[in-house]
Amino acid sequence: MCGIMGYIGGKPAKYIIYNGLQRLEYRGYDSVGIATLGKQLQTIKTVGDTSKLNIDLIDPKATMGIGHTRWATHGKPTEANAHPHSFGAITLVHNGIIENYEELKTMIDSKKLKSQTDSEVLAAVIDYYFKKEADLVKATKYALQDAKGTFGLAIISKDAPGQIVVARRGSPIVIGVGNQQYFIASDQTAILDHTNKVIYLEDDQIAVVKADSLELYDLKLLAQKVAFETLDESPESLTKGVYRNFLEKEIHEQPTALANTMRGRVSSDGSITLGGPNLSQADIAKLKQILIIGCGTAYNAGYYAKYELEKILGLPVSVEYASEFRYRFGAYDPETTLAIFMSQSGETADTIASLNEAKRRGIKTMGIVNVVGSTIAREVANGGIFLHAGVESSVASTKAYSCMVSALLMFGGFITYRQGKDAAITQKIAKELLELPDEIALTLELQDSIKKLAQKLLGYHDWFFLGRGSLYPVAMEGALKLSEVSYLHAQAFPSGEMKHGPIALVNSQHMSVLLLPEDNLLYNKTLSTLEEIKARGGKVLTVSTRPKEPASDFHLTVAHVGDHVDGLIYNVCLQLLTLAISEKKGLNIDRPRNLAKSVTVE
Ligand code: GLU
Repeated sequence: MCGIMGYIGGKPAKYIIYNGLQRLEYRGYDSVGIATLGKQLQTIKTVGDTSKLNIDLIDPKATMGIGHTRWATHGKPTEANAHPHSFGAITLVHNGIIENYEELKTMIDSKKLKSQTDSEVLAAVIDYYFKKEADLVKATKYALQDAKGTFGLAIISKDAPGQIVVARRGSPIVIGVGNQQYFIASDQTAILDHTNKVIYLEDDQIAVVKADSLELYDLKLLAQKVAFETLDESPESLTKGVYRNFLEKEIHEQPTALANTMRGRVSSDGSITLGGPNLSQADIAKLKQILIIGCGTAYNAGYYAKYELEKILGLPVSVEYASEFRYRFGAYDPETTLAIFMSQSGETADTIASLNEAKRRGIKTMGIVNVVGSTIAREVANGGIFLHAGVESSVASTKAYSCMVSALLMFGGFITYRQGKDAAITQKIAKELLELPDEIALTLELQDSIKKLAQKLLGYHDWFFLGRGSLYPVAMEGALKLSEVSYLHAQAFPSGEMKHGPIALVNSQHMSVLLLPEDNLLYNKTLSTLEEIKARGGKVLTVSTRPKEPASDFHLTVAHVGDHVDGLIYNVCLQLLTLAISEKKGLNIDRPRNLAKSVTVE
């Protein structure tokens, strides 16, 4: 989750590492630190973000070093717990969790530990082997054979200068290749400024990086072939442009992001073609069940798609939290089940673990991810769909959500056609999807009126988000967004569930956001929920494709395109509402407290 940045080459390392850490801060920002190796080892650390780090203290002549922004798992966010950690001759930065760190302490003189972190224990174990072997790579190999858990690591030693040893198990590491220089990062956004030629480390690979060479080994130190890949993002995608924060920028990028998700796939003649999913005609004929697995917003996107895919494909679709799926016994027939793994980063630890579990059970696996080259993209057995939504920097996901839902709708349209069903089903999906970018652009014009509305809603601290059909998962996403960015207590329920319990919480201080569907029958049913809340003195903000109902207190009217995609338009209003409320509360919108982008620890 936290960020790693390393550099080795001919330039002052401190500026490159500092710049990379700033790019990575959206992944974790409890504390930050840099260590460089020049004439001597120099380490600076601070609680908080990079703005608190005084890089003037570091010798500009040092041309190699490592840095880290932390998202604490073991030990509070203090200066002592900030990375890099040094023990004996070893200095390292670590992403992930060393699960057996207590056990490993028996190998070392634990009285010498200066922090509460699992990471420093690993540094001490590497130092233990380094003393025996006098070889940094061998010492790393032995320590990693002992270590259990997940890690992305960059290791240096004052006694073995001129090299950075890098390794991964379950936590991403990418190495950027420059001219007589290398850039090491946990996330490609940190190196986009310097190069687009990269190497992705695989699990249990160790790289030895010097200014003019890179060697790759497995855990037995057998040499491995190096495969280069090219990044297609540009550094401009990493700036806020005219927007105040990345959340606002990414909400506004949705029309473009959606057009990119559909480009070359959804055609105006009503056909949908996907080159990514690797499913034979026989696989499709056998398909009896679809699982969609993800966490947070990806889970919510899957839940929305469930409602639509069941209509489109006539197959049962289950949505699973990855943190549950990985440990749960689920009775799935591998012959007839397809599991789709959704993650913006493609690095979500629980989702990767679920993917491994599904593969172990012989279930077909597909990925829907944004980051090309990510672990999920590389490890699924049956291909998948890249979102092409562009870099998403805001911790709270917006454009990736819309693109995930759209990708699943495209998948539905593509598969139903290959099932030999009526082409009109696919044509309807294609038509609605193609109208979506323009309709979302029009919805974004509601931003000013939503800002005015937000001013009136600031006094409410407890919120319900209510919907029916695919508007229920939209309500879930609305509640998640408001809680994570605005720190307001928000819960989602199917509107029909209100009278089975939640309505007990309604009073004059309580705000409900009620999403009224287009369908006449369900619209009228949902109106009863409005009346029931009003009868208990609660306040209601309605969102619908129709004019305001007399009973509602506040109202937003949205466009109607079609049942498959309407929820995405409602959701844009909810995104704008969260943005407006959080801005009015003066919150750090792109870095909500306690959260981090890309949850690469369990
Ligand atoms: N477990 C390490 C720590 O608490 C690294 C955490 C992370 O991956 O952010 O310092």
